[in-house]
Amino acid sequence: MKQALIVVDMLNDFITGALKCDRGVAIVPQMTQLVDGARKAGIPVIFTNDAHVEGVDHELTHWGVHAMAGTHGAEVIPELKVGNRDYVVTKRRFSAFFHTDLDLLLRELGVDTLIVAGLQTHICVQHTIADAYYLGYNVIVPKDATDCFTQEIYDYTIKYLADIYGAQISDVDTLIKSWKS
Ligand code: ZN
Repeated sequence: MKQALIVVDMLNDFITGALKCDRGVAIVPQMTQLVDGARKAGIPVIFTNDAHVEGVDHELTHWGVHAMAGTHGAEVIPELKVGNRDYVVTKRRFSAFFHTDLDLLLRELGVDTLIVAGLQTHICVQHTIADAYYLGYNVIVPKDATDCFTQEIYDYTIKYLADIYGAQISDVDTLIKSWKS
């Protein structure tokens, strides 16, 4: 089993900007631990980031302007700072696989198991996991390193990810311990 950590949309606009939410702010410490733990364990860290194109991207008509390519809002939050061994994949839809080179990158890295964390659980995290499932990857979700606008949607989505895509639901401590053993 070769793992990679997929960090979804931990961007300024999702934490402190246009689509900010308190529940997103609350997972920053766990995300920081998870990213640090993965780097120390030699697990590839792949940031998958919204980078929308003004006047073109379909999603903007429904969600409003957010994470526009090249702006501060589209940058990874300072707490997680992209390291020189990390990878960055930009996306223009919810799924990090849709018209991006994520699948190619994962295949070249020999990865078969994805740890998917970040925001929002029921939107970009879920759509990325759906595509991962279609493409044959195993998926692990650290439940304390993802969240969304409400507890109700979060609870429903975590159960859905397990029931429908067979995602293994774990947590940051358990994963970090498993990397050390
Ligand atoms: Zn978006």
